[in-house]
Amino acid sequence: MTSRIKLDVIGDPIDHSKSPLIHEIVLDGLGLDYQYRKVQVAKGGLEDYLADIQAGGICGFNLTMPHKVDIIPYLDFIDEEAQLFNSVNTVRVKSGQLYGYNTDGRGCIRAAEDLGYSFQGKNVVIFGAGGVVSTLALKVALEKAASITVLNRTLSSAQGIADNVFKKTGTKVRILPLDNENMNAAAEACDILINGTPLGMEGIDHNFEDLTFLSRLSGKALVYDLIYNPEETKLLRAAKKLGLNTLNGYGMLIYQGLLADEIFLDRTLDFTLYKGKIENKIKNLKNF
Ligand code: NAP
Repeated sequence: MTSRIKLDVIGDPIDHSKSPLIHEIVLDGLGLDYQYRKVQVAKGGLEDYLADIQAGGICGFNLTMPHKVDIIPYLDFIDEEAQLFNSVNTVRVKSGQLYGYNTDGRGCIRAAEDLGYSFQGKNVVIFGAGGVVSTLALKVALEKAASITVLNRTLSSAQGIADNVFKKTGTKVRILPLDNENMNAAAEACDILINGTPLGMEGIDHNFEDLTFLSRLSGKALVYDLIYNPEETKLLRAAKKLGLNTLNGYGMLIYQGLLADEIFLDRTLDFTLYKGKIENKIKNLKNF
């Protein structure tokens, strides 16, 4: 008899987490006996949580804010990319040992690849310089982009990312303040434009005011908004109207989860099948 697979997602806040939806579709699809819990773990609470799970037979967990960096000292093994990103979103528990991984970068790239976009040799422009961009800028450098430009409201955060990417990969990142003039300039010759700010996200009052920069993009460019709620932001709507290719954040969200499941379950998954099933489920939910 196979034992029950016990998985968690931990964070604070955690109520809003979409993780169970993604993982349950895979675990149900494979016909496994499992539990997937949302567990609220406040900052500083990792030690207690880890003690609890060793006793409770948990075989893996996903992590969100504020634990992605704090977990690192507790790991017995850290995967090369997670170490480079200094961020862990997936932990496998095996024979009492903790193995840390980060699937966000690969998830982001994989979603773009579905549309036929590779980052290799591309001019990539990224808006924002927060947590997600600090990982993605490194991943885009690893993918050997021709150039990376990061525009952010607070230039010192963009500088921090540029310094980190250069230190770890030797790739230079151009940084600019996030204003209309620079957005227009950066859009010229840009192949992939990523929005890594919450501008346009549900529940956020701020949005892009001037989208002129979209008309500076070449017709082949991809406009990639990491936001998935709403499904189509003002940015993506305007880009579509101009005939540009667009991508929202669902693919990244789904792929980082599927990649985590491969780690938890030690098996390869049919990504096309499960991505389709998850997308269908999301479409049928009113408040995803
Ligand atoms: P974060 O760490 O809070 O960083 C937010 C970034 O956006 C900062 O660079 C911030 O600039 C900028 N920003 C915030 N409000 C702004 C405004 N009004 N005007 C201009 N810039 C503003 O957030 P994060 O974790 O990196 O997440 C960023 C976005 O990515 C969110 O929308 C999130 O939904 C999305 N995301 C998607 C996925 C996915 O799987 N699809 C995964 C993670 C994140 P300052 O430095 O000036 O404050």
